[in-house]
Amino acid sequence: MSVLLDRLNDEQRQAVTTTEKPLLILAGAGTGKTMVVTSRIAFIVQSGRAEPGEILAVTFTNKAANEMKERAGRLIGQKAVKDLWVSTFHSFGMKILRKYAYQAGYAPDFTLAEYGDQVGLIKQGLNELGLVEDGMSQDPKAILSLISMAKAKNQVPEDLEESSDPWEQRIGGIYRYYQEYLHALNILDFDDLLMLTVRLLQKDEKVRQLLQDKFKYVMVDEFQDTNHIQMELLHALLPKHEPNICVVGDDDQSIYSWRGAEVANILAFPQIFPGGKLIKLEQNYRSNNVILNAANKVISINSQRHVKNLWSAQEGGEKLKVVACGSEEREAKAIADTILNKVNGRQNTYGDCAILYRSNHQSRALEDAMRRGRIPYKIIGDTSFYERKEVRDALAFLKIIHNPRDDFSFLRVLDVPPRGIGPRTIKTLREKAVENKTSVYDLLRNPQFMENFGRSSDALMKFNNRVEEFRQKFQEKVPLAGLVEQYFEGVGYIEGLGRMYKPREDAEKRYQNVLEIIHTIEGREKEDKRCIPLQEYLESVSLMEEYRRRQEKDEDPNAVMLLTVHASKGLEFPSVFVTGMEKNLFPHEKSAGLKALAEERRLFYVALTRAKSDLILTWSKMRKAGRRMSQRMPSQFLGELPKDLVDHCLPQDLLKKLSREEFLEQMKNWKIDN
Ligand code: ATP
Ligand code: MG
Repeated sequence: MSVLLDRLNDEQRQAVTTTEKPLLILAGAGTGKTMVVTSRIAFIVQSGRAEPGEILAVTFTNKAANEMKERAGRLIGQKAVKDLWVSTFHSFGMKILRKYAYQAGYAPDFTLAEYGDQVGLIKQGLNELGLVEDGMSQDPKAILSLISMAKAKNQVPEDLEESSDPWEQRIGGIYRYYQEYLHALNILDFDDLLMLTVRLLQKDEKVRQLLQDKFKYVMVDEFQDTNHIQMELLHALLPKHEPNICVVGDDDQSIYSWRGAEVANILAFPQIFPGGKLIKLEQNYRSNNVILNAANKVISINSQRHVKNLWSAQEGGEKLKVVACGSEEREAKAIADTILNKVNGRQNTYGDCAILYRSNHQSRALEDAMRRGRIPYKIIGDTSFYERKEVRDALAFLKIIHNPRDDFSFLRVLDVPPRGIGPRTIKTLREKAVENKTSVYDLLRNPQFMENFGRSSDALMKFNNRVEEFRQKFQEKVPLAGLVEQYFEGVGYIEGLGRMYKPREDAEKRYQNVLEIIHTIEGREKEDKRCIPLQEYLESVSLMEEYRRRQEKDEDPNAVMLLTVHASKGLEFPSVFVTGMEKNLFPHEKSAGLKALAEERRLFYVALTRAKSDLILTWSKMRKAGRRMSQRMPSQFLGELPKDLVDHCLPQDLLKKLSREEFLEQMKNWKIDN
């Protein structure tokens, strides 16, 4: 135990050993907040205060959860760590709802809605409710995010319908349609994972008591980014008297207000959980002084914040580099060359380097440059695999095994590959299901109803029976990977890929992606040495864990990481590149207004504080915006860096077009106050 505590400074030690009351740790980047959480878990277990299964630690991303498990595993052993509850708020909600689905008003085999289906459902709702002619905004995505916002505030449709504002009333109406429809299909959306869990805990005394007794200690990392509903979840989960909750956060790193996160939760913490303690950590162990001072200077421009005295014992350090480039391809190449130099000079390994960007689309050029330079890389948080059509079809096939009443999935694969059912039949089926408030699956089981369908009815029955046969097989305890493969073949999906996609290379690529699903399952069954249930696999996919896990495991651990600034939260790297430091890109073009700009600045602060010893910021004079190439201006954030801590580098190709004087002249225009 003393080994555990010896590594910590006084404040950290105090934080780790203060276990029996609410504890708020408010501290800047790199001060060891996450380390305190893992050490605290170990301290609680080793001192016999609780079993690992009685501790819940909530983090922000699946990656962070995995990392926390790993760190904790090193302290308390791999066996004990398996019982720990380390998860995101959403996967915690998922686990609880699976267990108490009936109490929450759902069947335990619920599935998660996909974004495309959600959008489709809103469109359908607008039509059905006659709101399209009503002049109601026809942007279903915007409506969807209003519903999501409402859920983040724990509002049900009624709450909006009862509003005096007619606009809100109408959103309430669509929200009701949307929610009732999903409920009928036994489908939850992402926000339901939180809202339904909170409502379950609030209304079901028995479940609440069970869970309150179970979790003796609760910890939350990145607390500044919790929203209202997550706060309510914590509140409902903890006993009123003497809750053992510890939250750690940094108001300067609050970057999710667009998702309803409220920094105010930090300020309200002492009122919500009274009788607690506040600990501040001030020593940054991550970055050298040059980086830290630059970051401190930038964030000090924001007015509403807790002022912190962050310092680092690591004196010296090289100045930050700002590199201007001629195009985004050249920007990417300049980064690739710099990385190669660092690696060849043995200054860094590939794994030491991270490339951050504000927007996902920036990764394309960067990825190309990595490939050309033969630099091993991995993209973190890439969800594109699961957005591919063939993959979504394959998953829909699996989802209907698990939940036959999942109409989205059912209708999606009914004619995939084409089996003579056709779009008209599909449309009719959908309409009839809505009309009768039932599922397509139940309609198909009604012989009277089927008479309407003439020739397609044979094809429909044949397909449904085939799936039903497999549904039986999936009940058995056999390796999932093999069964999935049989199933894909059995419903003609594998063979159908060749018919659906032309040319052959395309079909082949898609086949590989479908195989990838099977391989993923196989890998997991091997690793866990057991047959995993279909439900478990689908769950992990829904939470986008699986692909990342594979990426992180299978690929070379010594690879450059490409990721958005948002996804970089909590991570650290010796060398960090922040790319696209341009006006309208970072800060993002949609961040007009002081409040939004302050959030972008916090995001910039997050980016800067990921670096341990080397920080390079790049921007490009020209970039494709939409389809056109456009002239770019440097980001105002570059001007906010302290002048004496920055070296400006102009690569030759740009200097040809722009004299140094011209460039410096330009710099003057966008410098703010140094
Ligand atoms: P962020 O705000 O970015 O999430 P954080 O406050 O969670 O940062 P950690 O990631 O826990 O900070 O720690 C930053 C780095 O400092 C880690 O490499 C960690 O191992 C190291 N560190 C923290 N405390 C100490 C300490 N007392 N002695 C030595 N190293 C430490
Ligand atoms: Mg952290």
